[in-house]
Amino acid sequence: MGIQFYSTNFRAPKTDFFTAVLTGQAPDRGLYMPERIPGIAKADFLGFSGAQYYEVANFVLRLFLDGISDEDLLAKCKKAYSFMPRLEKASGKKHILWLDTGPTASFKDFAAQMMSPLMGHKLGRGEKLIILTATSGDTGSAIANAFHNIPNIEILILFPIDEVTPNQRKQMTTLGGNVKTIAVSGKFDDCQAMVKEAFADERLKKLKLSSANSINIARLIPQSVYYIWAYTQLVKEMGEEVIFSIPSGNFGDMMGALLAWKMGLPIRKLIVATNANDEFPAFLASGQYSKIEPSRMCISNAMNVGHPSNLTRLIDIFGGQMDEKGMLLKAPDMEKMRGLIHAVSVSDGDTRKCIADTYREEAIVLEPHGAVAWYALGEFLKEHKEEAETLCISLETANPAKFPEEINKILGISPAVPESLSKLDKLKEDYIKMDADYKAFYGYLARL
Ligand SMILES: *Cc1c(COP(=O)(O)O)cnc(C)c1O
Repeated sequence: MGIQFYSTNFRAPKTDFFTAVLTGQAPDRGLYMPERIPGIAKADFLGFSGAQYYEVANFVLRLFLDGISDEDLLAKCKKAYSFMPRLEKASGKKHILWLDTGPTASFKDFAAQMMSPLMGHKLGRGEKLIILTATSGDTGSAIANAFHNIPNIEILILFPIDEVTPNQRKQMTTLGGNVKTIAVSGKFDDCQAMVKEAFADERLKKLKLSSANSINIARLIPQSVYYIWAYTQLVKEMGEEVIFSIPSGNFGDMMGALLAWKMGLPIRKLIVATNANDEFPAFLASGQYSKIEPSRMCISNAMNVGHPSNLTRLIDIFGGQMDEKGMLLKAPDMEKMRGLIHAVSVSDGDTRKCIADTYREEAIVLEPHGAVAWYALGEFLKEHKEEAETLCISLETANPAKFPEEINKILGISPAVPESLSKLDKLKEDYIKMDADYKAFYGYLARL
């Protein structure tokens, strides 16, 4: 039997991978986690150094999945990853991992492009699946693109009307077909709460609802792949340690790193860099958790999250338990967590300064999310001079052209626009508006 998945609330039956994927959130409102995290042997890690990205993805996914043949999985990986990340060397031992090379120019493409064929895989003929997604910016467009025109799947996206950029909005609202979008007059957290409420609503049981948010396990596992890929492209000797710096909002990205660490990737330190939504850095320091309500608006808008859904999983990995409301039921091993994770909150002021400094000093144009991580890494290295010779990889999670107004204000230049973004202005937008009110959302769903 392959790996089973349990709920972090421990009140739902264990399931196989594909059931967990189609269910999204577990019936007890917990999140699915693999019962066992398989290790990767040194020799296998070494073998990745000249491999194609899709081959590494196939290897990692194969460890977690059953219910799909080897040929089928390999073909799906190959089709999903016609693009791959880009590594850029900066000063010292610092590197930037650009994850903006997919169809919507955000790192979320790496998960979404793989998740859509996996979700389609077990869907019966004639069955209709409705995917509900709350987005703070980039999830919606990545999901919409990955699932656009996939038969038997309807996509419904909720986004906070005032917190996404025009480009981010257009990437979701111009697709049409099986992609429907709702502009909510509220925050990302309101959108997420509406989606979660719908999943738990008994009256909607007749609809087959699923989630493509980072609460879905099918997004997390593919996100462990780029850490493994990046590391194996750069090291000369397996076992050399690496520091990753990750711009974090809902913690899906950082959970990918934790899975890779559990699989044996020699991570010395994970820098979890947040914007002013500093609930996690505060928790790591004090052991006391309180979410931030409402979440704070920052220029790294896809990270404006006052309570990261995947925190529950992080706490689970370190032996604690947190329920879906953010209540800490059992404390995790804080010392162990602090040994691996360095968490820091970066202000908008420092984010802007970092974009300006990096352009001046390294001739690299960062965007606000990647700059949060880059700044955090720089500060960490200043405090820890002993790490000057350690391999460092900071993640860039979006293309600067997604934030032209902000970049222009800071640098006085317009970032180069990739093709995926340049065609948006010619397309027609279509979305409906809704209050941040579950009753209205229920009414909409009930009429589907
Ligand atoms: C979603 C997003 C993040 C945050 O990732 P999480 O997995 O939610 O922590 C960071 N940067 C960009 C550009 C994003 O779209």
